[in-house]
Amino acid sequence: MFKIKKKLAILGSTGSIGTQALSIVKARPEMFEVFMLSANSNCELLYKQAKVFKPKHIVVNTPEAYIFLKKNVGKKTTVSMGLDNLCQIVQLSEIDLVLSAIVGSAGLRPTVSAILANKNIALANKESLVVAGELVMRLVKENTVDFLPVDSEHSAIFQCLVGEDYKSVDRLILTASGGPFLNLPEQQFNNISVSDALKHPNWKMGNKITIDSATLMNKGFELIEAYWLFGLSEKSIDIVIHPESIIHSLVEFVDGSTKAQLGMPDMTTPILYALGFPKRIKYPFKPLNLIDCSKLTFFQPDKLRFPHLQLAYDCLRLGGSSTCSLNAANEIAVNAFLNKKISFVNMFKLIEMSLEKSIFVNDPSLEDYLHVDSETRKITSELISKI
Ligand code: NAD
Ligand code: MG
Repeated sequence: MFKIKKKLAILGSTGSIGTQALSIVKARPEMFEVFMLSANSNCELLYKQAKVFKPKHIVVNTPEAYIFLKKNVGKKTTVSMGLDNLCQIVQLSEIDLVLSAIVGSAGLRPTVSAILANKNIALANKESLVVAGELVMRLVKENTVDFLPVDSEHSAIFQCLVGEDYKSVDRLILTASGGPFLNLPEQQFNNISVSDALKHPNWKMGNKITIDSATLMNKGFELIEAYWLFGLSEKSIDIVIHPESIIHSLVEFVDGSTKAQLGMPDMTTPILYALGFPKRIKYPFKPLNLIDCSKLTFFQPDKLRFPHLQLAYDCLRLGGSSTCSLNAANEIAVNAFLNKKISFVNMFKLIEMSLEKSIFVNDPSLEDYLHVDSETRKITSELISKI
C-alpha cells in the first residue's frame, strides 16, 4: 500500500527532545522523513545527524558551526545560519510538521513563522506560550493549524480531551514530580549546588528545564502553557505534586468524571503522539506495571519553599507582557546559576528584582514581546552583580 511520509522540520535537533524525536524517525522510516534540522552550535552532532537523515536543509546559529558544516556535509544539503534564515526555511512548502524544540524564547520567532505558513506544530518549546501565549494562540486559530503539545502533562490533557467538548471541562489537574528538592528542608536550600540541581529524580532532560524543574518554575510555566492551550481560567487549573510521575495529568468534567493519562516517565510517548497525530504509532515501550508502582502519592505544592510557582500565577493574572518578562528574567537567572555566578535561592531574588524594574506592555505585538524580552534580559544581567 502507498503511504505518504510526513516531512519533518526539527528545531533543536541536538537537544534532549530533538534527539529523542530523531530516534523515533530512525525507527519508523516508512512514516517520517527529515526535511530540515536546526540547532545552535553542536556541529559534530549535527554532522552525524545529517549523515543519517540526509536533510535538505540545516540551519545553525554560530559562524563556527556554519563553516564546519558547509565544509563537511554533502552538496545535497543546504547549510544556512541565523534566525532570519531559520524563519524562512521553516515556511517551505515541503514541510508537513514542525517540531519546535529549541529551548527558551529563541523558539518564539521560528514557531510563529511556521504557524503563519500553516505548518502543523508539535510544540515542546513551552516558552513560546509563556512569552507570547495570546499572540501564538490567536495565530494558531487564524491559520487553522494542528497545535500539538509535546510537554507530557499537556499531551496527557490533550489526549484526555480527544472527542470531548472543551465546554464540558471543569478543571485541569497538572501533576508535578516536585523535583530533586521536594523533601529538602528550607534551611538547606542555601547549600544546593549545580550538580545537586541537575539530578532530576524521574526525567532526563536539557539543563535549563532540569533547573526549572528543581525550582518548580517549570510547573509555573506549564500552568501558563495550559492556560493558553486549553482556554481555562487559572482558577480552574490545579497543580498536584505526584513524585512517581506515573499519572501525567488529569481532566475533570462537569458530570464529575475525571480522566487521566498514565505511563512510565518517558518523553518518547508524548513525542510519538504529537508526531503521529491523529494516529497512534506502534512503538516498543516499557509497559506500565501497576503492581510494581504499588503506591501513587499526591501532595499540595509548597509555595513557600518554591516561590517561583506563585510568581507564575501572579504574572499570568497581571497579563500583558508580564509572563514574557518572567521568562526572560528566569532564563538569565538559570544561566547565572548554571555558571555558578549566583546561588540556587538567589535565582528567585534576581527574578523578583528584575520584574520590579522591567517594562510592561498591555496588548503586546510580536515586536513588543521581543523588545520586552531583550530589555528584561539586559536589566536582569545588570542586576547579577548587585545580588
Ligand atoms: P536542550 O537544551 O537539550 O536542547 C535545546 C536545543 O535547542 C538544542 O538543539 C540547541 O542547539 C537548540 N538551541 C538553543 N538555543 C538556540 C538558538 N538560539 N537558536 C537555535 N537553536 C537553539 O533542551 P530540551 O530539554 O530538549 O528542551 C527543549 C524544549 O522542550 C524546551 O522548551 C523545554 O522546556 C521543552 N521540554 C523538554 C522536555 C525534556 O524532556 N527535555 C520535556 C518537556 C518540554
Ligand atoms: Mg512537563
